[in-house]
Amino acid sequence: MQASAGIGLVDSHAHLDMPEFDSDREDVVRRALAAGVTAVLCPADLVQPRSLAVLQDLQTQFPESILAAAGVHAHQANDFNEKHVRSLHEWASRGVIRAVGEIGLDYHYDFSPRVQQQEVLRSQLACAGELGLPVILHSRLSGPDIIAAVDAEGFRGGGILHCFTEDWAMARAMMDRGFFISFSGILTFPKAQDIRDVAKKVPADRLLVETDSPYLTPVPQRGSVRRNEPAFVVETAQVLAGLKDLSYSDLAEATTRNFRTLFR
Ligand SMILES: [Zn+2]
Ligand SMILES: [Zn+2]
Repeated sequence: MQASAGIGLVDSHAHLDMPEFDSDREDVVRRALAAGVTAVLCPADLVQPRSLAVLQDLQTQFPESILAAAGVHAHQANDFNEKHVRSLHEWASRGVIRAVGEIGLDYHYDFSPRVQQQEVLRSQLACAGELGLPVILHSRLSGPDIIAAVDAEGFRGGGILHCFTEDWAMARAMMDRGFFISFSGILTFPKAQDIRDVAKKVPADRLLVETDSPYLTPVPQRGSVRRNEPAFVVETAQVLAGLKDLSYSDLAEATTRNFRTLFR
């Protein structure tokens, strides 16, 4: 971990709004800062009004380090309505949110019917297009339909394909559409060789790292800590640096530069 000293790294995806962080949210951010994590992008859950409010409080305390996004997740496509679109417009106009997300499709859990997930994704892509914001995409076993939705909406605002678990064809297609590919702690799991193989091929100027906290705690913390937190993104960055044959500092610099390209 000492490799992180003095080098800025960004956690491109962490759910710091969640109740798992209610007891020590500020300490979690301080630990991230101490580990060299200079910024954390937090996707708020539009269906729960508390979610963005919690993040706004955190932003007040750490204005340089916390960025917020908001969207209706594929899991909750059932709950999506026009009120959510109005909220996105309002928060974007006030500069509270910097991206629309996370939005997408999840054909692993299928919590909402697929056709409905697709409609809700397209509505929010259209909204992001109108607002001129990038999107944070969630895709699980749904690559071709994500690409189809982006193309059908003519969405060219780019963004992040987060917590990458799809194949190289999907990575390639999304990069062609202006997206960055964000790798989570899954990269550190022994069984994830197929994901590491894709990561090797993604050019350094398209890479991001994330924790997806409180989920997906990376190795080695995984053995002893249940809850993931942004400070642990350092482990994923170290593995990614090894795969890319880059020094840790070059990887940190590249991913931070990529993040700043999206969120100037
Ligand atoms: Zn996700
Ligand atoms: Zn997430």
